[in-house]
Amino acid sequence: MLDFIEKELSDIKDSGLYRSLKTIEKTDGRTVTIDEKLYLNFCSNNYLGLANHPAVVAAAKEAVEKYGTGAGASRLISGNLVLHEKLERKIAEFKKREAAIVFPTGFMANLGVVSALVDEKDTVIIDRLDHASIIDACKLSRAKLQVFPHRDMNALEKLLGKSQNFGKRLIVTDSVFSMDGDLAPLLDILMLAKNHKALVMIDEAHSTGVLGKTGRGLEEHFNCEGRTDIVMGTLSKAIGSLGGFVAGPKNLIDYLRNKSRSFIYTTALPPASCAAALAALELIEKDLSLLEKLRKNIDYYSSPATERRGSKEPGRSAPGSLSPIIPIIIGPPEKTLEISNQLFTRGILLSAIRPPTVPPGQSRLRLTICAQHTKEDIACLASSLRELIPA
Ligand SMILES: *Cc1c(COP(=O)(O)O)cnc(C)c1O
Repeated sequence: MLDFIEKELSDIKDSGLYRSLKTIEKTDGRTVTIDEKLYLNFCSNNYLGLANHPAVVAAAKEAVEKYGTGAGASRLISGNLVLHEKLERKIAEFKKREAAIVFPTGFMANLGVVSALVDEKDTVIIDRLDHASIIDACKLSRAKLQVFPHRDMNALEKLLGKSQNFGKRLIVTDSVFSMDGDLAPLLDILMLAKNHKALVMIDEAHSTGVLGKTGRGLEEHFNCEGRTDIVMGTLSKAIGSLGGFVAGPKNLIDYLRNKSRSFIYTTALPPASCAAALAALELIEKDLSLLEKLRKNIDYYSSPATERRGSKEPGRSAPGSLSPIIPIIIGPPEKTLEISNQLFTRGILLSAIRPPTVPPGQSRLRLTICAQHTKEDIACLASSLRELIPA
């Protein structure tokens, strides 16, 4: 019966695409301990170190004391705590929207919102490099799926022109692309959408807490706050907790509470996760030093001190890069894995990202720079990369 599983697994192994887990015994956000050995972590999405911040940890502990470890039911039954509502108000305020709704994960938020908004009579238009959860959300909705090449606005315009009779049209894009670290051309997308009467949804998973003067995301970066119809994001990356959210007009949020199956038929976000996210958002609002530290570290990685500036080598970030995600494209999966393993023997955790997460031939080390890294950490990484990846 399980022959096909054995065969599939051995095929995966033969193509260098086998995935296995590393067991982390301890972590402080900057480092991890594996097999009792300490590693610098250069592949975490905990960009501001908030998952380990004393104030965030204290808020989570207090919530556990007060409410217990689980919410006990879905939001609409008996799981709706004061904490959920406070968190939703805070998110709405942070994203400059009337209202917000939280889901147990970002993945579920995407599933819930896209499938509630469009169906087989409608069309979803996405960037080729959108996150897997957006693609699955589109499939679940059964809407007609139209894909434009990465950041190609001419192609988007053509698709919008051709799909006028395809029901409601919803454009969905990552804000910061999760495997490439580049930004969606939001102003162009908004203009095209307006001309063609389409809706726009952005996925702010990697931009919340990171982009814009005060970390509010892609709209703040482009100075167009409030213009996107639907803002989705996660509490699991820079916010250091778990959970997904959607922010928008009051009636949209009310609609999602009534229609989103991944909101209705699942247990509410645990109290500790809510309290941690709330504390993290409050910290981001009142203390810009974390974001400044993150930006300094990103700049330092691309500075002459690490001999990265202006380098033509694949994956060396351009100076002035805004996102903490820096892809170091190697190409073949086996080679990528080998470099990742060599880094590991030098005390650096930087995982290999291989197909189907990225297109074939584009296996990479997806480096993430965080606020909690020291200059020495970054210099150490840079010198190892110089040695292991010949120019
Ligand atoms: C991580 C991620 C998600 C999923 O968020 P989770 O909270 O981890 O489920 C959705 N979209 C993008 C672009 C992501 O990077």
